[in-house]
Amino acid sequence: MSSKSSPSFKGNKSFLPSKICVVCKKEMTWRKSWAKNWEEVKYCSEACKKKKPSNSQASS
Ligand SMILES: [Zn+2]
Repeated sequence: MSSKSSPSFKGNKSFLPSKICVVCKKEMTWRKSWAKNWEEVKYCSEACKKKKPSNSQASS
């Protein structure tokens, strides 16, 4: 007889983070292949990666 109305949903594994591609401004949803570097992902695809704005700073 326990009601499952717990307000905490931190364990919701169906939630996937998403972010906006800096090139095409489309929303990209988290992918397993990005798990390692999700924080660094800026482009939704290789195509956008190549199309990145020319104002990028020189990075090593
Ligand atoms: Zn893109």
